Amino acid sequence: MSIKIAKFGGSSLATAEQFKKVAAIVKADPNIRYVVPSAPGKAPEFSKKVTDMLYACADAYNTPKCDEIFDEIEERYYAIINGLGLNLDFAPHLETVRKNIKAGYGEHYAASRGEYLNGIILAAYLGFDFIDPADCIAFDENGVLDEALTHAQTKAILVASEYGVVPGFYGSNAKGEIRTFSRGGSDITGAIVARAAAADVYENWTDVSGCLMADPRIVDDPKPISYVTYSELRELAYMGASVLHDEAIFPVRIAGIPINIRNTNDPSHPGTMIIKNLPAKAYERPVTGIAGRKGFTSIQMERSKMNNEVGFARRALQVLEEENISLEHMPTGIDTLSVIVANSQIEGKLPRVLKKLQLACQPDSMEVSHDMALIATVGHGMSRRVGISAALFTALANAGVNVRMIDQGSSELNIIVGVANEDFEVALRAIYAKLVAEGQA
Ligand code: ASP
Repeated sequence: MSIKIAKFGGSSLATAEQFKKVAAIVKADPNIRYVVPSAPGKAPEFSKKVTDMLYACADAYNTPKCDEIFDEIEERYYAIINGLGLNLDFAPHLETVRKNIKAGYGEHYAASRGEYLNGIILAAYLGFDFIDPADCIAFDENGVLDEALTHAQTKAILVASEYGVVPGFYGSNAKGEIRTFSRGGSDITGAIVARAAAADVYENWTDVSGCLMADPRIVDDPKPISYVTYSELRELAYMGASVLHDEAIFPVRIAGIPINIRNTNDPSHPGTMIIKNLPAKAYERPVTGIAGRKGFTSIQMERSKMNNEVGFARRALQVLEEENISLEHMPTGIDTLSVIVANSQIEGKLPRVLKKLQLACQPDSMEVSHDMALIATVGHGMSRRVGISAALFTALANAGVNVRMIDQGSSELNIIVGVANEDFEVALRAIYAKLVAEGQA
């Protein structure tokens, strides 16, 4: 018998109707041993996520507004309980949460209660044990996950329970205070539980049938991705494709557990498998996905005979390090070196950085451009394959897009191009049309 973990996102658990779909999925598969719920999210009849309302409650904890918002939250939960016809004594839980938020327990505590309360309802509805992640998911004093301790404690706690519900999004620190992950963090809880249970698969149920090869807001009707590797997904997610919380990949990647993105509203769709190595067949397709982001700054320095100079790049990088700026790319020529950083990293620091670079590197000239977008074309299938970059750059040339920067990772997993912000959409569509829709690579 294989072991599966099923994490359900907020839209999958927003109403009693959605709860029923979740229960049908879980009950149909006895291999689903542990279920990780999010807090109730948005639904056609509800415009707010419970988590957002809880943050607002924490903000207004010492004002009448707090009670007002909490009344609304209570209604959401009672609508679910009544809609399920569940006989559950829920009032004491709500009372405690309301009292503690009003006593100023803070935003981590408040936000975590969305998952906590939903977990109590789901456990009762499924007839599963309720497992409180405050007892196993451990954060250090800086609010960072203590991976080793978390793994050991979660493993131990799961052994005692054959079928359980572990609410997502939070844990606790050594002082017993509740700590949450960043937004969307229930994905991380699911991955932690999957690793601790030595699961065969981590099912991540949401409201889309897996990942798409490009952003549907830019490309019309992009193709779905059946298989993607952890590293391809990292590249795509980093460049803006959002499917899973960034950090959710690490715990399962260590253990080689595949993640299967599924749709609660279309459970027969196989969704996307996120795995370590692509099946042989998947290599037939060179490109797995295309993603990009706007908002990068490039600083180009020129100095004649830079090629003979030892330490130029180190001095440039040291300036960035001193200013706590993370570097995205560093294309070089014989006498030129550019650093490309996200605008958000350099905001408010640019004049100082330029001054320091001038002093440290003494370039003959420096040029700054602010409006760069980066587009990553990602796919293991591109490696050792002739003609991909030719097709990609032909597509950009035919679309009249000027390429400002080119970077290819050494593993040939990606080709990244820098274009003007205003060319971003046209460029992305052109690459998709050529490499995916026409398959001309
Ligand atoms: N409920 C939290 C949020 O809205 C965590 C999650 O859903 O994963 O961010």
